[in-house]
Amino acid sequence: MDINALFKIHYGLYILTAQDKGIHNGCIINTAMQITSQEPFLMTISINKSNYTTELLLNSGTFNISILSEDATFEQIKQFGFVSGRNVNKFKDLNYSIASNGAAYINDNTSAYLSCDLIDKYDFDTHYIIKALLTDSQVLSKTQPTTYAYYQSNIKPKPQPSSGWVCSICGYKYDGLNLPDDFICPICKHGASDFIKQ
Ligand code: FE
Repeated sequence: MDINALFKIHYGLYILTAQDKGIHNGCIINTAMQITSQEPFLMTISINKSNYTTELLLNSGTFNISILSEDATFEQIKQFGFVSGRNVNKFKDLNYSIASNGAAYINDNTSAYLSCDLIDKYDFDTHYIIKALLTDSQVLSKTQPTTYAYYQSNIKPKPQPSSGWVCSICGYKYDGLNLPDDFICPICKHGASDFIKQ
């Protein structure tokens, strides 16, 4: 089996938000699907069981999907994808609104939002698949929604090209392509032979 084949599946990028007892939280998800093409519009999403947002979603029975557009920023994705709402308030200094279901949606760099009510959940080991009913929706921007592939090639910062040397003894960084042979580390006094090119 070649697990790289899994990277060939297309995904989107969404901020899923839920509110329970006045506490708002959100997380990044990459799967949201419209299943039925007429009313009632039934949707599925998948979400990691360990996310705090999952807890709020299951308790409140309702959630929103903000469909991120191609102008979404890495900061935005970091804010919702790389930290836990158990430790930080992700809504501080955020431009958001409250939908009719009481949960938030994101105003900035969002193509549209969808409000959904939980119908059922299905156990998928680390994740739940959530079956939900679409209860409200609104287009917020004309900008194309982003795919996960677009995020990888255009939104996520590129790794910086190597441009220096680092002392393997103490971690001191020397900026510059060429390290002189007689260079002495100003911190630990080791010589150039103990430096590694970054
Ligand atoms: Fe050093």
